[in-house]
Amino acid sequence: MKKKALKANTQCIHAGTYTDPKSLGINTPIFNSTAHVFPNVQGKIVYPRHLNTLTQTAVAEKLAILEGGQNCLVMSSGMAAISTTLLAYLKQGDHVIFHNVLYGGTQDFINDELTRHGIQFDMVHSNKARDFARAIKKNTVLIYVESPANPLLDIIDLKALAQIARQHRVLTVIDNTFATPINQRPLELGIDIVVHSGTKYLNGHSDLLCGAIITSSRLMKPIHRCALNYGGTLDTLSCYLLERGLKTLGLRMAQHNQNAQALAKFLNGHPRVKKVLYPGLASHPGHKIARQQMSGFGGMLSFELNCEPSSVKAFIKRLRIITPAISLGSVESLICLPSETSHGKLTPKQRQKQGISDSLIRLSVGIEDIRDLVNDISQALTAVKTKA
Ligand SMILES: *Cc1c(COP(=O)(O)O)cnc(C)c1O
Repeated sequence: MKKKALKANTQCIHAGTYTDPKSLGINTPIFNSTAHVFPNVQGKIVYPRHLNTLTQTAVAEKLAILEGGQNCLVMSSGMAAISTTLLAYLKQGDHVIFHNVLYGGTQDFINDELTRHGIQFDMVHSNKARDFARAIKKNTVLIYVESPANPLLDIIDLKALAQIARQHRVLTVIDNTFATPINQRPLELGIDIVVHSGTKYLNGHSDLLCGAIITSSRLMKPIHRCALNYGGTLDTLSCYLLERGLKTLGLRMAQHNQNAQALAKFLNGHPRVKKVLYPGLASHPGHKIARQQMSGFGGMLSFELNCEPSSVKAFIKRLRIITPAISLGSVESLICLPSETSHGKLTPKQRQKQGISDSLIRLSVGIEDIRDLVNDISQALTAVKTKA
């Protein structure tokens, strides 16, 4: 069966699966040997850190097919995927362009590690592809973005960005964690490399730390070498959990999309809500482009209440189903204040520059019954004292 020709929901379940010829089990077995007979018929060293055990290659193939790439490396965390990809392509004296709104951990990596390695960078305070073009210098090697971005759900025109980057022979990397390949396939839009925190939607059950890198075989070569050297590859047992989670990715994303759209609409019309950021709302500045490049708007939304700052915490405290927690992208609805969590390490000034106010609330909408979620938010909003 040619798995590439199948639809995403079918690929989630069938692509990459390794069938053990002796047991004929339906699932890829957990091959957890770290030692393999050598020399073997392929003359290859099989070793989990090299990412070539059958359990690892099965889940990597599933992800490669879902993203429409030739190759995938599964990593021990999203940050392992991001740091390995960046360090594989960057050296002292190189220049990188980042979008100014990024996952907090990625910002810390840029500030701490790139600086230490003598790698120059600029942050683009705009979603427009032409503003990224303006930031390109002679020594620019790479452009790195998130779309939708954490936590303001900024949308960047990926096709336009990829075109500009190609003209200047600059590589493009996207963190596709928020969208997943179900909602957005950046490689088809011309982006070179996709990275993921698989900890979020890909696994989807808040019980596994993992990451992934997907690209062409050619572009993967230096990343693969770097992955073996730094050693942040995913262990075999975790690969099994990731493969299990991925089987329901399509189903989960459909429900995340539907629930988030309904909640965004509900919040948008509520008198105690000041503003809602969700790419699925026509009022969102990135809505038009999101409609072109995404097949679903995702499960993440942010909003601000029309209230005194103290009421924000009272609101969160009153929620009964939606849980205050760090992290996102799992079956249960989670809520947090980015100023205290994902972007807590930034200075208040840096946050202000990015538009992340102290009362901005980020909601990772789960796949619970939408009626229960609306009721939960509705009752908690009664704790909010509106500004006079
Ligand atoms: C969580 C997250 C990461 C980091 O992933 P880890 O698995 O925690 O290392 C990177 N990017 C985005 C968008 C994330 O949400």
